[in-house]
Amino acid sequence: MLEQPSSQTTVKSVALHQKDKAYYLPTFNRIPLAFTHGKGCILWDADGNEYLDALAGIAVNSLGHAHPKVTARITKQAETLLHVSNFFVTPPQVELAEKLTLSSGLEHVFFTNSGTESFEGAVKIARKYANSKGRGGTIISMHNSFHGRTMAAIAAGKPAMQKGFGPMPKGFLQIPFNDIEAVESAISDDVAAIVLEPVQGEGGIHIAGTSYLRELREICDKNDIVLIFDEIQCGVGRTGKLFAKEHFDIEPDIMTLAKALGNGVPIGAILSSAKVSAAMEFGDHGTTFGGNPLACSAANAVIDEINTPEFLAEVIRKGELLRSKLKELQKEFKSIKDVRGLGLMVGMECTFETKPLMLKMLENGVIANATAGNVLRLVPPLIITDEQITQLVSIIKTSIQQLHQ
Ligand code: PLP
Repeated sequence: MLEQPSSQTTVKSVALHQKDKAYYLPTFNRIPLAFTHGKGCILWDADGNEYLDALAGIAVNSLGHAHPKVTARITKQAETLLHVSNFFVTPPQVELAEKLTLSSGLEHVFFTNSGTESFEGAVKIARKYANSKGRGGTIISMHNSFHGRTMAAIAAGKPAMQKGFGPMPKGFLQIPFNDIEAVESAISDDVAAIVLEPVQGEGGIHIAGTSYLRELREICDKNDIVLIFDEIQCGVGRTGKLFAKEHFDIEPDIMTLAKALGNGVPIGAILSSAKVSAAMEFGDHGTTFGGNPLACSAANAVIDEINTPEFLAEVIRKGELLRSKLKELQKEFKSIKDVRGLGLMVGMECTFETKPLMLKMLENGVIANATAGNVLRLVPPLIITDEQITQLVSIIKTSIQQLHQ
């Protein structure tokens, strides 16, 4: 249980925040809190205040903080070998490649260091395949989607993110999400790939419809268009399946991963089918750090822990518990418009901006996130307990009361 709400002293945090402001490129509007350590779903700030973590570093620390098995694998690896370059193979990388390809049904993998890099690589593979078939290189993405912050990723993302960074890479087109007619009217020989998040994260937790995905798959098959699932946020157990695609029973040609894969150690992956991968040749892509033995060791521990029927069933059960408790709250507060999600990827849409709610929750000792303006996003560590879920919902309730009394 939380012992000490964060509204108590934050002197050390504030001092660190001020120093950070002096040095760091002003791209983040950071909250003046500095964290020093964590255990499970609990984090401690520099002044010793305790917080329940319902954000998990934005769906990253799925096994919580300082998970003993992840720590053990990283420590053992750090004691033996950190890096050798991709001129050579290492046992942890081969082990992870085998695990991810076998569990995803996609035959090839390429390791990256982040989500946006996985997206960039996916675009390259899709375009190389399309080129080999005499098709154009246009990448169709969805309104409200988020694929990262590098140039191709912002070209595929919200126009607001592109402002001031032109000229944009060419060949990107956005269409409405969950709208099959929009897909039909956008199709031409110029289209190389369609990319979407099966569950949109930054966009406010919107789930793709099963029949929509089925029709999308058919359209892609008919036109030899590459279907890319961005599972960077919704993959690796977050939704109660190892991959969100399993909820819909739809197979993409390419799937991107990152975030939870290393439980905080930076690693991403691009998985692609044998058909699409066949277009890639020696020299077409590369990376210095991607898939180094340290990152792969962390990811092997993560997959071993998450990819069991018992663990994933618990994620489904706890997600339902969280949503049912939030739906109870919805009966009390008209300002809660909707509660939705899959597994422990949960959104609570409100009639008000959720940033003040997120800040009030922080004062009350809970870390969550406001996204898409009016959505409270809850992506806690997957190891969250029932008691902590009760505590989380109770603090949401108190915080709404304090804000709107
Ligand atoms: N794709 C999705 C669905 C994401 O949620 C994110 C990050 O939030 C990214 C891509 C980009 O990942 P990264 O920040 O690791 O580059």
